[in-house]
Amino acid sequence: MSSVVPIISVDGVTKRFAGPGSLMRRLAGKPPLAVHALNEVNLDIHRGETLGIVGESGCGKSTLARCLVRLLEPDEGAVRFEGRDISHLKSGERRAFNRRVQMIFQDPYSSLNPRMTVKQIIGEALSVHKMRSAADIPGRIAELLELVRLPQDAAGRYPHEFSGGQRQRIGIARALAVEPDVIVADELVSALDVSVQAQVVNLLLQLQEKLHLTVVFVAHDLRLVRHISHRVAVMYLGQVVELSPAEALFTTPRHPYSKALLDAAPELDPSRRSKTVAARGELPSPLDVPPGCPFAGRCPYVFERCLTERPMLTPREGGQRAACHLTDFGAPNVAIPMEGIPS
Ligand code: SF4
Repeated sequence: MSSVVPIISVDGVTKRFAGPGSLMRRLAGKPPLAVHALNEVNLDIHRGETLGIVGESGCGKSTLARCLVRLLEPDEGAVRFEGRDISHLKSGERRAFNRRVQMIFQDPYSSLNPRMTVKQIIGEALSVHKMRSAADIPGRIAELLELVRLPQDAAGRYPHEFSGGQRQRIGIARALAVEPDVIVADELVSALDVSVQAQVVNLLLQLQEKLHLTVVFVAHDLRLVRHISHRVAVMYLGQVVELSPAEALFTTPRHPYSKALLDAAPELDPSRRSKTVAARGELPSPLDVPPGCPFAGRCPYVFERCLTERPMLTPREGGQRAACHLTDFGAPNVAIPMEGIPS
C-alpha cells in the first residue's frame, strides 16, 4: 500500500485569509485580522492509500484539500507532488499535475454543467487532456459509465435527470476519465441521503482498489471515514492533531480531541448533526489562535505547559502520531494526570 516516497507531501503549510472588516481596519490604521485556516500542517500521503481527513466544521480540512489540488496557494510551506513543489511547476508539468490529481466536490448539484449531457461532460474532460482520439471517446464514455455503475443510456441525459447519488457518480466518472493517480474527495457524500451515502462510498472504495488510486477522503462523518480509510488525520483549528492507522485511531485514540470526536460519533447521524458537540465548549476563533495547544480551552486534561507550548506531532506506539504533551494518552494502564483541570 505505501511506498517510501510519498506521492504528496504537505510540508509546513500555513494558509491565512483576510478576516472580517479588513478594509475598514486598514483605513483606520489598524493591522488587518487574519483567519488562520492552516497552521504549519505536515502530512505525507502514500501512493495507493486512502487517507481520511476529519474534524469539525472550520478545522481547515477543506482548505487543506484545496491546497492539495492547487486551488489555493499556501502562504508558507509547500505541497509536493512526487517530490516537486506544485507551486513551482512549469506549464506542461502543471497540466500533467492537473490531470493526475483530481478533486471531486461536495455538491453534485452545482459541480456539473446543467446545459451539458453526461457524454459532453465526460467527453470534455477526455478531449481537454487529449486522453482519447475523437473516434475512441464514445467507447471510453461507455466504459466509464459501467465503471461507476450508471446505465448506458445515461450518456444522452442531463444532470437534472439524475438523483444526487447518480450525479455524484457522474462526477466520479468525469474525474476518472483523465486516469488520475490521486482523487481528493471533499465531503463527497455529505449532501446525499444516508441510504445513498454508503453506496457511493463503497463504489469509491472498490474503484480505489481496482485502479490503485490514492484517495484523500475529507469528511466529518467518522463512520464513513473508518469504513474507507487506511489512515486518518484528525484536524483541529488548522492543525493535524493525530495521524493514525484507521483501526488504531478508532480503538485507541492518542489525542484527547480524537477521543472527544469518537465519543460524539453516535451523534453524527445527519439528522442530529447540528446538535452534535464533539467536545465541550466552543471551537476557538481562527482569528485568535491560542499560543499553546489549540485544544487547551476545551481539553479535560489541560495542564500548565499546554497553555504556553504548542505540542508537535510525535510518534506513539502502533504507528500512531499525536500532537499532545501527554505522550502516554491512550496507552493501556497509564493514568492521566488530572492537575489543572478547569472547574
Ligand atoms: Fe490537552 Fe494539553 Fe494534550 Fe492539548 S497538549 S490535548 S491541552 S493535554
